[in-house]
Amino acid sequence: MKIKVIGSGSMWTGYNSASYMIDDNILVDIPNGMCKNLFKLGINPRKIEHVLITHFHGDHYFDIPFYFLLKSRADNHNINIYCSKEGKRKNQKLLKLAFPNSTKEINEAIDLKYIYKETFKVNNYIVQKYLVDHGRMKPAFGYIFDTKKYKIGFTGDTTICKNVLYMASVCEYLFCDCMFIKGTSKHMGIDNIKYLSKEYPNCKFVVSHLEDDTRKELQKLKIENVIIPEDSLEITI
Ligand SMILES: [Zn+2]
Ligand SMILES: [Zn+2]
Repeated sequence: MKIKVIGSGSMWTGYNSASYMIDDNILVDIPNGMCKNLFKLGINPRKIEHVLITHFHGDHYFDIPFYFLLKSRADNHNINIYCSKEGKRKNQKLLKLAFPNSTKEINEAIDLKYIYKETFKVNNYIVQKYLVDHGRMKPAFGYIFDTKKYKIGFTGDTTICKNVLYMASVCEYLFCDCMFIKGTSKHMGIDNIKYLSKEYPNCKFVVSHLEDDTRKELQKLKIENVIIPEDSLEITI
């Protein structure tokens, strides 16, 4: 399994918005600027066939119209979106807003499926969806990819909650929200990561959605099982 951190920053930084690519055709979140960021890294977004959306904040799904348009003109029209039930309506609304005169053509050209199930198969991975707690934004999900040998988790945006603890307890790597120095009711912070990394020493925590001051502070702390990624860091497991 190959995981590339496409974005590790919060919206208010020079880093790309939190997002990941697995192998060559799966995305976890598709934030503002995603297609551009993939092109900049020399990755062809036309190859992407699976997009898991953690929740419907703009910094996690606003590149949907550009991706749909690109796929409508590509050879490979397959798109599978994994998300909560309101996803189809939200994505269509966004597409219409972005390209009002070509919405119909785009929709006719792409082979689009929505998957709302709790457990599903993507490539050879069994993926399980977990509810997390992102304040007023409901629902918000995390995902665990099971390769049968190990589990890799993505928390999405969340405060520390029961399912984050569960994910940390079973995962080899957990790509997790650590936006602030101190956690809030919507996002985790360094205090939460310190707790998790101590409580679950077998898990490696790849922190993301970082504000700049949080990144600096984390770099000073040098916690053994915490990885502070630069955008485009690739982890092969
Ligand atoms: Zn959010
Ligand atoms: Zn966010």
